[in-house]
Amino acid sequence: MDNQESNVSRIGFVTMINGPVLHASGMKNFGMREMVHVGRKRLLGEVIRMDGDEATIQVYEDTQGMKIGEEIIGSGEALSVSLGPGLIGGFFDGIGRPLSALLEREGMYITPGTEVPMISPDIMWDVEPSVQVGDMVSSGALLGSVQETGLLLHRIICPPDIEGEIVWITPHAKVSGEGVIAKVKNALGRVVDVTLTQRWPVRTPRPYRARLRPNEPLVTGQRVIDGLFPLAKGGTAAIPGGFGTGKTVTQHQLAKWSEAQVVVYIGCGERGNEMTDVLEQFPVLEDPRSGRPLMERTILIANTSNMPVAAREASIYTGITIAEYFRDMGYDVALMADSSSRWAEALREISGRLEEIPAEEGFPAYLPSRLAGFYERAGRVVTQYGENGSVSIIGAVSPPGGDFTEPVTRHTKRFIRCFWGLDRSLANARHFPAISWLESYSEYAAEVEAWFQGNVDPRWGELREKARAILREDEKIQQVIRLVGEDVLPDDQRLVNYTAFLVKNGYLQQAAFGSDSYSPPEKGFAILEIIMHFYDRGLELVRQGVPISLIKGSDAVEDITHLREFPVEEKSLFERARKKLDNHLNRVGSERTREGRAR
Ligand code: ADP
Repeated sequence: MDNQESNVSRIGFVTMINGPVLHASGMKNFGMREMVHVGRKRLLGEVIRMDGDEATIQVYEDTQGMKIGEEIIGSGEALSVSLGPGLIGGFFDGIGRPLSALLEREGMYITPGTEVPMISPDIMWDVEPSVQVGDMVSSGALLGSVQETGLLLHRIICPPDIEGEIVWITPHAKVSGEGVIAKVKNALGRVVDVTLTQRWPVRTPRPYRARLRPNEPLVTGQRVIDGLFPLAKGGTAAIPGGFGTGKTVTQHQLAKWSEAQVVVYIGCGERGNEMTDVLEQFPVLEDPRSGRPLMERTILIANTSNMPVAAREASIYTGITIAEYFRDMGYDVALMADSSSRWAEALREISGRLEEIPAEEGFPAYLPSRLAGFYERAGRVVTQYGENGSVSIIGAVSPPGGDFTEPVTRHTKRFIRCFWGLDRSLANARHFPAISWLESYSEYAAEVEAWFQGNVDPRWGELREKARAILREDEKIQQVIRLVGEDVLPDDQRLVNYTAFLVKNGYLQQAAFGSDSYSPPEKGFAILEIIMHFYDRGLELVRQGVPISLIKGSDAVEDITHLREFPVEEKSLFERARKKLDNHLNRVGSERTREGRAR
């Protein structure tokens, strides 16, 4: 698409209006996927089908009041976002318009056709150049940097299509988002301006040098995740769950605590009040490692259920493009989409209006390929800049009725490697996070084990396996208990049953609110270690004939379920709890030995 084409040949006309979908004629000089302005109000739209002179357009704003015959004007570019300093801490709609600026200007009602630059041209950024006149640069070269927030150094990387010799570079100076920071003479002798802000088409993945194995965990501070079903940096995860099982709370927890330098949170088709919660909560949160405001590394994208449906379809591409942009600076980025089901519903609605032949449950036949295309943009890579960077994607899925066999959950499962299934009965029992330890899995567990063993404790994998084996064994024991009651169980099985109780209550449960909200891997390990120590010593005692009622009948054992309330820095509290437990177990052991000798 070329901007320079004559405008006369690039004006089309609306011939039919069907909600967010328009048909138009006079379109033969437009490009497929070209961004267009429609009608008197200049609503933003995108060409999604071309047929000679006719085209179909999806419109990202409310088309009410539009009339047949209104004009369509091409923009010369595909649906794109602006990338540069000023995104962090921002709050955008599905097509990247800054909602905070819109709210200021327009109040709560956003007038269709409102145009606000994604990055404010009024803010001046303190640019520190990194190259000199005469340097040869190409895609990925570091041109300079801006300390965007206290938490983020914004690296200005040479865009993919620019290559040549630096003929001018800004001195250390204040530059606006639209300002030129370098001039590059390419092989043809043409001088190209590099501005602080660059544009990128959202549906095109940004390039990188090579993919890396996902063998570093994305630590989330959530024990059930880091401990049992870990996510790797650059990995993909889905959180499916029925209404009220904790998808949103879990996503918020991950946005708050994940060990990523940048977090992109997409509220996709959520209710307005849920997004208001995010807007109220996030700005007051602190980063657990630096104590600085969490918004200094967070970008929010909101497309609430009352906003136009086509913009919801676009929102995940806007989000992933921003995520890739920060990845390209050599950062680990975590992207949350809540919920991917609402996004799929937007796809279904538009497909219906296009009169496409529906596949399963009305979803278009291309639902799986679109899901695949989205999750494939995750990954840990060597960036063009030469540093490692990653984008991890965590998608919430809201299956109607909590049925995991419905199309969106089923297809999502094909493209993700970490599945955190939320269990209704756990949520009902107020066991949170309600992540099922039986249905969930992580295909990264083996790959990230070495990292945990090197960075937390060499016994990490061994304890994880033991905990999982106990939970699995307990599941069988629970069935027996349901049939014939607990009393008939031999003591070694009752010990498994009680240890599983400790794992569930003392380790897996973790309140999203309060001091346990963020649990570093060291803390999870310390808790699990005490529980497994109890099991090992308990088993010895059971074998010596000590009754289980004596083994578990002490405050020292019950205290294990309170360890999670201790902050990890208070090592002495963990040590004291362990000593108390040992004293108790030694006592019941020696009493037994004395009794034995007395007989
Ligand atoms: P969903 O998004 O699946 O509809 P929510 O995330 O809104 O569900 O969770 C519903 C309720 O469950 C929350 O309001 C909260 O009371 C409770 N909840 C979920 N996860 C946790 C958690 N980790 N800690 C405490 N409460 C939780």
